Amino acid sequence: MTTPGASRSKALPLDLSATKAAVWLSLTAVLALMVLYFVGVDQGATSVFGDNMYIHEFVHDARHLLGFPCH
Ligand SMILES: [Zn+2]
Repeated sequence: MTTPGASRSKALPLDLSATKAAVWLSLTAVLALMVLYFVGVDQGATSVFGDNMYIHEFVHDARHLLGFPCH
């Protein structure tokens, strides 16, 4: 049985300055655009990263799950 307040930990506030927030937002946007490119645009033959189908095959199920046209 636990006693109320005995092991209560206090949550620390998240201290984000405007610069840190802008950096995190930028990195998140770049990462999201990369994922969107690999899942939605990369077709293998027109791939920016070489003439292979590895990335396309790796994200193939996600592509169909999200409704991107494929074949
Ligand atoms: Zn497909």
